[in-house]
Amino acid sequence: MMEKREMIRVDKLNKSFGDLHVLKDIDMTVQESDVVCLIGASGSGKSTLLRCLNFLEVKDSGSIIIEDEETDLKTHDVNKVRQKVGMVFQHFNLFSHKTVLENVIEAPMYVKKVPKAEAIENGKQLLNKVGLSDKADVYPSKLSGGQKQRVAIARALAMKPDIMLFDEPTSALDPELVGEVLATMKELAKEGMTMIVVTHEMGFAREVADWVVYMHDGRIVEVGHPTDLFESPTEERTKEFLKTTQ
Ligand code: ADP
Ligand code: MG
Repeated sequence: MMEKREMIRVDKLNKSFGDLHVLKDIDMTVQESDVVCLIGASGSGKSTLLRCLNFLEVKDSGSIIIEDEETDLKTHDVNKVRQKVGMVFQHFNLFSHKTVLENVIEAPMYVKKVPKAEAIENGKQLLNKVGLSDKADVYPSKLSGGQKQRVAIARALAMKPDIMLFDEPTSALDPELVGEVLATMKELAKEGMTMIVVTHEMGFAREVADWVVYMHDGRIVEVGHPTDLFESPTEERTKEFLKTTQ
């Protein structure tokens, strides 16, 4: 069988905020089309890890290798890196004075210099993909939280990233709106997108993840296939954490 391509490799990544050592020797490899779910208690460093991968935070030491290229703010243009690595946040941060379609075409047009007609064409396809073709011309204030998050996903996809990072994309949503966002993410996973997803949705992790990574106190404690990790975790810490999620 052919080896899958390595999309992200993290080696001995460390990050502190002042005296607080938040990421401790993180090693992680994500291959093409992998869906990795990152779980762990609040404060364990999950967001900081994603933010380092997208260069919203600057690591202290270690290396981040994206598609076989050691990537560093000193040597790489952060905007170029973010074209490869898209991110979706808990709070969608849409531009409120722009329509849904305008939100989606903004970055391709102004960062990537894609011609407007092409950006619109692609943007409409993406809105169709996330089930919002009928909302292209409305303003975000007219959308539900689930719809806003699906626009945020379309907006990230508009840059044609190779990797998508999701930081608790459903945590700010009313329970009845969680499913539609998870369904959109599941669809993306099926299409082969490489994804790292921080989530408390254990059902999603069980069903969609190729790997589940459990973090505690800035370290990766356990990595496993979802069935193994959820049914028979090997580490005490993982067992304790999983009890709290039921
Ligand atoms: P998680 O996403 O797992 O809840 P975070 O990565 O957000 O964890 O946070 C890990 C730790 O780092 C927490 O103790 C948090 O308070 C701290 N932290 C995160 N961001 C900052 C920051 N910008 N400045 C100072 N401390 C931070
Ligand atoms: Mg977080």
